[in-house]
Amino acid sequence: MIQHDCKYCRADEKELSPLMTHVTDLPASKVYLWKDQTYYGRCVVAFNGHKTELFALTPSELEQYMRDVALVAKAVAKASQCQKVNYAIFGDTAPHLHMHVVPKAPGKPNWGEAFVLMPSATRESDSVQAAQMLELLRTELIV
Ligand SMILES: [Zn+2]
Repeated sequence: MIQHDCKYCRADEKELSPLMTHVTDLPASKVYLWKDQTYYGRCVVAFNGHKTELFALTPSELEQYMRDVALVAKAVAKASQCQKVNYAIFGDTAPHLHMHVVPKAPGKPNWGEAFVLMPSATRESDSVQAAQMLELLRTELIV
């Protein structure tokens, strides 16, 4: 089910590109690399279909979505060499179910505390580094 006023449902590359880059599609989700790479390797895993809460998913949807999230987290951990992956579902202003998968490490931003959702809306991430991460994640996730 698609909701036409929802950016995740529309999945329009042009509309999403200021915030994120499409990595790949998994069985229950679409995977995006977050443009701001303050947390190198940060991704979003957006559920296929307009559901707004985990409890709205059927048991099999929930199982597949969590499998997708775990697969992405494993790829992010390997590609970023982080020490810990953080997970967050917010959605106050974009309620379509999507999970932020955020690598963290000692000495890196916000280690030991919550990551910042929009750490530097005006700062350009290193595009070479971001392209390398995109390549690493695609290698891990696309079989
Ligand atoms: Zn939606």
